[in-house]
Formats: sequence, structure tokens, C-alpha cells
Amino acid sequence: MAKEDYYKILGIARTASEVEIKKSYRRLAMKYHPDRNKDNSTEAEIKFKEIKEAYEVLSDPKKRSAYDQFGHAGVDNSFGGAGGFSGAESFSDIFGDVFGDIFGGGGRQRSGGAQRGADLRYNLELTLEEAVHGTEATVKVPVMVKCDECGGSGAKKGSAPVTCTTCHGHGQVRMQQGFFSIQQTCPTCHGSGQKIKDPCRKCHGQGRVQETKTLSVKVPAGVDTGDRIRLAGEGEAGVMGGPAGDLYVQVHVKEHPIFTREGADLYCEVPINFPTACLGGELEVPTLDGKVKLKIPAETQTGKLFRLRGKGVKPVRGGPAGDLICRVVIETPVKLNKEQRELLEKLRDSLSGGGKHHSPQEHSWTDSVKSFFDKLTG
Ligand SMILES: [Zn+2]
Ligand SMILES: [Zn+2]
Repeated sequence: MAKEDYYKILGIARTASEVEIKKSYRRLAMKYHPDRNKDNSTEAEIKFKEIKEAYEVLSDPKKRSAYDQFGHAGVDNSFGGAGGFSGAESFSDIFGDVFGDIFGGGGRQRSGGAQRGADLRYNLELTLEEAVHGTEATVKVPVMVKCDECGGSGAKKGSAPVTCTTCHGHGQVRMQQGFFSIQQTCPTCHGSGQKIKDPCRKCHGQGRVQETKTLSVKVPAGVDTGDRIRLAGEGEAGVMGGPAGDLYVQVHVKEHPIFTREGADLYCEVPINFPTACLGGELEVPTLDGKVKLKIPAETQTGKLFRLRGKGVKPVRGGPAGDLICRVVIETPVKLNKEQRELLEKLRDSLSGGGKHHSPQEHSWTDSVKSFFDKLTG
């Protein structure tokens, strides 16, 4: 079967510009995309592949030039592409490309000229209090910014970039190579189509200079390690009038001497003395908003958790505040004097008289150990 003419497939003139080729390709690729043609999918798929093949040749200056001179033979044999561009890629790849272009995703660079500035990342260390309550942080970032001397053109004040004489502003030049005339990026202007005769002294013709930018960043209450705040347009300046990149402020919350955070909940360990654990009592425990009273019931064991509802963190993405969970740890008294020692000895004698009654855990543990050894010795 004789192949259809690539220009005809895309419905464009032989003189069509790169932009026209791309436009036509997008329109047809969407029209014949198999996902949109469930009813006659085989036909659409064939058509879609044809469109893709035509576009791959015509969008590439080298291949297009070869095709213009030698037709299908020029691209099928000479470039080793026989069958190479017929549906080897998945549809999603191509479609991703089409949409990427439409929505300006990724700042893809096809030729010289305007270029989006790089995105920057800044690591912001916060205390737990700052993260929980929100803060205004000062951020110093080294960035490439548009040169104010030349307004970003790179040309000396009072002068302007001139059209490149090598490529006459096209950014591309045709070179004769063997049979083919090949189009490639202009070596003089590197594709921008412009030349700077008199470079700006401040930026040496770059159009950008490095500066330390001081920004005030509003950190919302409730952020946590791993959250990031995007400051659109605060990244590096673009090249040749391209848009600036974004600045991503990455939050890192420092360790706190008292609290550890898990999502919206806060945890803390509360030491209590032995008599309070036995008799019960009231303690003062810290929260991020000041002290609160915590009632300790009599006979509290070490490791018991007490939940203070709503005393945790209010999450940045909304929802109710978490809890403060206090884990009590009973502290064994140290540095006893003679009297205290005697009192404890008295207590011990008194308690041992009660047997299991006073230390149920100790006794059930002793029983477990005993049966464990009994089983071993069989
Ligand atoms: Zn400058
Ligand atoms: Zn040039």
C-alpha cells in the first residue's frame, strides 16, 4: 500500500511553519485518539498512528528536509527509522506530550529563546511552637534575578540586541551535508536569533545576576515536617524574558524537649512520684498553650496513658485538633535518708503480709515464669 503524503495527513501546506504543524497535529491527535473513538477504534488507531508518524517526521527539521527531497524513501531508509516511528510508544506518552504542551507543563524547551527559570527549594527549620501556631519566617535565598541594568536583555544600557546575522533571526541554519541539507541550531546565537553586540557590564550579557533575595514567608498554623509552601514566581528568573521558576519552602520541625508529634496528636512523658501513683493526686502538665491540671487516680501504674482531648495540634489542612497524650512514668525514690528507708522497710513487711492482694501483676508474672520452667523440665 502506497503511503499517504505526510503533509496531506496533517492537512497542511508544504510551506507550513513549525507552529502550524504542531497545531494541526494536536487537533488531529485529539480527534483520532483511540480513547475518544471507542466505537470505531481500529480505524481511529490506524489514523492516529499515521498522524503521529507524519508529525514525527515533519516536526524534526532534519527528517523534514530529507522527506522534502526524497519522499518516504528519504526517511524510511536513510535515517534507520523504518518502522521505528509506528506506534512503538504508548498512546499515553504522546497524549501526555500534547497536553503537556497545551498546559505549559514542564517548560519543555524546543529551540533557543525564552526559557523558564529553575525552581528552587529552601529548607525551613521551625520549632514545634512555630509549626503549631504558625509564624512569619524570613527566608534568604540566592537567586538569579533579571538584571536591572539592562532589563534582562543582556545588552548594554541604551543599546539593544540585534538580529543574528548568521541565521537572520531564525535561530536555525541550513547546512549541506552529503545528500541532505540539514537544519540545525545556529552556532552564533545558539538558537535565540539575537546577538548582543555590546554586552551589559553588570550581567556580562547574561540578562540575569545572582542576588540574595529576602522573603517573608507566612507559615500557616499546623504545618509539619514534609509540608511545603509554594511561592509562585519566586524562583530563578527566566532566560530571555521567560517566566520565573517557583520557590518551594520545605518545612522541617525541630525536635522538642518535651513533646513529640504524631500527626495531630502530641505525646509527652510525665514522671510521677511513688506515693502519688499509689494514693492518687493532681499534677500540672504542660501543653503548648500553658499548663493544665491532670487528675491521677489512686493505684496508677507506670505507662498509663492519659488523653487530654483537643490539646494537640490543629492540622493545617483542617479538621479537629488532636489530643495531648501523657504517659506517666513512676519514679523510684532516690537518696533516701535513714527515716525514709525505715519507713519503706516497714511498708515492705506490711505489703508482703497481704500477698497477691497488693501486687497482682507481680504474682501473675511469677506464676507465668514458674509454668514456663515447669514445661521446659517437662
Ligand atoms: Zn545586564
Ligand atoms: Zn543565529
